[in-house]
Amino acid sequence: MNFLEERIVKDGVVKEGNVLKVDSFLNHQMDIRLFDQMGAEFKRRFADKPINKILTIEASGIGIACVAAQHFNVPVVFAKKSQSINLDGDMYVAEVESFTHKCINHVIVAQKFLTSEDHVLIIDDFLANGCALQGLIQIVQSAGATVEGVGIAIEKGFQSGGRIIRNLGFQLESLAIVDGMNARTGEIQFRDQEKMDAENEESAGGEICRSSTLD
Ligand code: 5GP
Repeated sequence: MNFLEERIVKDGVVKEGNVLKVDSFLNHQMDIRLFDQMGAEFKRRFADKPINKILTIEASGIGIACVAAQHFNVPVVFAKKSQSINLDGDMYVAEVESFTHKCINHVIVAQKFLTSEDHVLIIDDFLANGCALQGLIQIVQSAGATVEGVGIAIEKGFQSGGRIIRNLGFQLESLAIVDGMNARTGEIQFRDQEKMDAENEESAGGEICRSSTLD
């Protein structure tokens, strides 16, 4: 188990409805030393990418993105969520369905903070169905900027987001992938990423589906 998986086992709480509560260290109270370890790990995994900006989404992505940004020495832009939009023409907007609140949000970034020159690392706390992430990717693409990769703290591997984003050809790095959890026993199963990497290397040469659009 890596450092984040160990922390999830120690302090995460499995709730009914496939919800993992990590509010004691990740998205309410925040353990900044843990965030720093996560930032260092993202830097290691994206070492060869020319990243000049990190994009995240309010609220819980911001802390992780800011600490990670110190390892990349780049600015952070966070997308704002709003249920109504008052467009003045200078904004990139995407529609995103909220997993936790079961509603549609508009995700907004001012055009002046994202341009075609930018090489963007997208960071977020959770990946479930991938709606939030697809909104952010859409915004980067509207700006003509490049998505260099996606860094996620916790991916729920039994939901479809990870598969969709990887099939689109993006480098998606999740520090912990939860493949199953049981609200009754509190048990959490993680994907063995080292084993998967080894298997992928063995089968390298297989077809990767690449696409620059999300429809
Ligand atoms: P998605 O758009 O990928 O379906 O969901 C991503 C967002 O939903 C995350 O930014 C996170 O806020 C929230 N989310 C999804 N699943 C969980 C979960 O199990 N626990 C918590 N705390 N948040 C979640």
